[in-house]
Amino acid sequence: MTQRLVIAIDGPSGSGKSSTSRGVAQRLGLGYLDTGAMYRAVTCAFLDSGVDPSDTAGVIAATLGAEVEISTDPADQWVRVNGVDVTERIRGQEISTKVSAVSTVPECRAELVARQRAIIDATPGGIVAEGRDITTVVAPDADLRVLLTADPEVRMARRNLDLGGEVDAAALADQVLRRDRDDSTLVNFTTAADGVVHLDGTYLTLEETIDQVVELAGRR
Ligand code: C5P
Repeated sequence: MTQRLVIAIDGPSGSGKSSTSRGVAQRLGLGYLDTGAMYRAVTCAFLDSGVDPSDTAGVIAATLGAEVEISTDPADQWVRVNGVDVTERIRGQEISTKVSAVSTVPECRAELVARQRAIIDATPGGIVAEGRDITTVVAPDADLRVLLTADPEVRMARRNLDLGGEVDAAALADQVLRRDRDDSTLVNFTTAADGVVHLDGTYLTLEETIDQVVELAGRR
């Protein structure tokens, strides 16, 4: 019987953790879980039920009631919430601006963490899971845990590329710097916890970053 392999990757926005995690999963034949997509999907759910981001009780109720289905196939990513495909919508500016209304609420985090653990446990063969709290909260017992960082200028440039180069500087700073600030109120993803390997991807290409994670996984 081959052993299951769980790889946890955390990092700030624009660090390249999604592309790296997907690439590692494809190389090693593992599943892939984008936990940020779950926070984003739940954001669609609370907005669609007419809840204001400042209404914490409403956001919690919408989160607990949201049926989230998410692909763990690294080659075919999709996410549905309450039966509706939101794969494209979750990448838009509206969701990026409002997702902190979910991620800064402990009750919402507890619910999503439990669902993420269930998905990780249910994926045969193993999985690469990425987010902000995977190495510390969701999967602290993962076989390999990596904190992937990059300098802020590089992260903003990468996010700009992701968004097709059409976003103004203020929106870009909101998507990267403001979101990091809000996100770090409940979760520490800027320093590596004990046993977590810190990988600085500032001067690495995507392929080089994937190579390094695959090599680290091979050593375990
Ligand atoms: O990774 P991504 O930028 O898509 O994540 C969207 C948002 O979801 C983050 O800005 C953060 O607020 C939240 N998030 C989180 N914990 C995770 C993954 C994402 O709080 N594990």
